[in-house]
Amino acid sequence: MDKNTIALHTQFRHPDAYGAISMPVYHTAAYQFPDAASMTEAFSGRSGEPDYSRVMNPTVSFFEDKVRTLTGAKSVTAFNSGMAAISNLFLAVAEAGKNIVTSAHMFGNTFSLITKTLNRFGVEAKIVNLTDVEAVAAAVDDQTACIYLEIVTNPQLEVANLKALAEIAHSHNIPLLADTTFLPFTEFDGKKLGIDVRVVSSTKYLSGGATSLGGLIIDYGNFPNIEDRIKNELLFNVGAYMTPHAAYMQALGLETLHARYKIQSGNALELARRLSQLPQIQKVGYIGLEDNPYHDLAVEQFGPSGGAMITIDLLSEEVCYRFINNLKIIFRATNLFDNKTLAIHPYSTIFVGYSAEEKARMDVLPTTIRLSIGLEDVDDLFDDIRQALEAANI
Ligand SMILES: *Cc1c(COP(=O)(O)O)cnc(C)c1O
Repeated sequence: MDKNTIALHTQFRHPDAYGAISMPVYHTAAYQFPDAASMTEAFSGRSGEPDYSRVMNPTVSFFEDKVRTLTGAKSVTAFNSGMAAISNLFLAVAEAGKNIVTSAHMFGNTFSLITKTLNRFGVEAKIVNLTDVEAVAAAVDDQTACIYLEIVTNPQLEVANLKALAEIAHSHNIPLLADTTFLPFTEFDGKKLGIDVRVVSSTKYLSGGATSLGGLIIDYGNFPNIEDRIKNELLFNVGAYMTPHAAYMQALGLETLHARYKIQSGNALELARRLSQLPQIQKVGYIGLEDNPYHDLAVEQFGPSGGAMITIDLLSEEVCYRFINNLKIIFRATNLFDNKTLAIHPYSTIFVGYSAEEKARMDVLPTTIRLSIGLEDVDDLFDDIRQALEAANI
């Protein structure tokens, strides 16, 4: 059976009393046991039964099981946001005196987590160009804890060669960690590409309708210490586990992810092609376009579809504002891969806390607008963009 079929038919760990076919939401903090011995079995982790919802909950386990089926991972842990998953992963991998080899091309909060927050705890960031394999090899040293990257960077849409990076990491016996939020895990095999642990903001493609925040650590089990620390130490001590209600909504979103993605990525490709023809647009960024510099590598690694994220560059920051103000259908909102199409000017929003020099170093440009493409009719989306360009007098 196809993995998407199997995921739809994921069994509950215990049969539901009423035969519900939708996973019930177990809104409980604690669980009653028949006797003292079975409490010991649960608290020691031997029985795999939940004892307290800060570390395990049946609804969240069901969601994790579905993701495990789809990814072929050894273990999956769900958190209350993408940032919670990412920060817990670093807490499991790094420690004072160690460094993280990574890039300045990434989601702004992750960059801040690494360069500011973790730095305060004695973890150094080594910033390199991850598309330059030799520079990465030169940056890794005895104290490197991991190589970390986004498979398609946000918002530069840069793609690095994962197998080459995995080779460097593994030759030093350290893990390659990848944020794979930008392409759904239903579409490609991260393990085959050499990723050891992936993190995903499930707030995005998975939830679908912007219903809830969530994050996932998807661990292929190559570095067993990571799973051990997350399951036996960090869930207890940090307390960022997903709540049952969020898990319910995200498990529901997951059931339609593959189907939604087909429409959204198809819409994105069609729009990228049409937008490339408009003279008011200086540049269209989309890895699904054949003339995109990362297209061939992206196809080789992730398959033929290029995701649902497009960037467009206009003449100036002021023109970007006018364009955004004139959109009628497309929402002015952050978030990615919602069912609805969203537009944002990353320079003045997500990256507003960074100085102009820092943004220049991160290649976050004042002329770029990020478009996350939804499920609407593609003609309606194109018409909205075209009328906004015209109304803005560009
Ligand atoms: C949104 C996002 C995150 C953070 O996820 P939250 O669920 O918002 O905490 C991390 N990485 C990438 C690539 C993202 O787009």
